[in-house]
Amino acid sequence: MWRTWEALADLVLARECAACAVPGATLCPACRADLQAQRYAVPREVRPIPAPPGLPVVVASARYAGAMRRTIVAFKDEGRSDLGRLLAPLLSGALRLLLSDLAGPVLVLPMPSSAAATRRRGDRPVLTLARRAGRDLGGARAGPLSESAPGSVPMTGHIVAALTTGRRVADQSHLGAQARAANLSGAYAVTRRHTEVVRRHPVVLVDDVVTTGATLAEASRAVREVGGVVLGAAVIAATERRHACRTADEGALWPG
Ligand SMILES: [Zn+2]
Repeated sequence: MWRTWEALADLVLARECAACAVPGATLCPACRADLQAQRYAVPREVRPIPAPPGLPVVVASARYAGAMRRTIVAFKDEGRSDLGRLLAPLLSGALRLLLSDLAGPVLVLPMPSSAAATRRRGDRPVLTLARRAGRDLGGARAGPLSESAPGSVPMTGHIVAALTTGRRVADQSHLGAQARAANLSGAYAVTRRHTEVVRRHPVVLVDDVVTTGATLAEASRAVREVGGVVLGAAVIAATERRHACRTADEGALWPG
């Protein structure tokens, strides 16, 4: 029903390509092809160089470049919620890889938006994406994902909005790795009402992009602070020039 509505909205509303602004479609054919070109053949482990202390295993589905970068920016910052259905499968692919070897219940924690960004946008884009990715994963090996009520016993891969921004953080898009880590120290916290469930079940973090890894490392610190365990992080895309990539069959590191 929802997909039908979205397809209809594509036809009725005046759309332009989110990546190059040519009128007519959510993404024009050229940008759609470039989006595909930025995808890895399979989701893979990525590692920033240098990796910040405490960064868990990170799995990404694509390079943060070209149409992929512009699509993610348009979804997050330009109100293009129609792009969620293109991006969510990339997140669910990374999540599937992280969850595939796990048997027990796992909490999926979306990275929080700042309070200012939430006010400006009126929603939380990473949480929205995580919910869509969860629907994509329904019936997969990882088991159904669903929103978990606070205090209830989670099944494998329950999405819980348990992370919050602990204190005000400056815009860090132009900061280097060390400055980001300092800027972020204490930036995230586990909400009080979710402390117990986070302590009792292992956690997988979800974000749109990994750059230096500083935000994921800081969120991991917040989870550990309440006695929780972070198994890994799933992201859509990685800024590759700062990363080494590792594939399961080669098991080696090389500059991305
Ligand atoms: Zn385009």
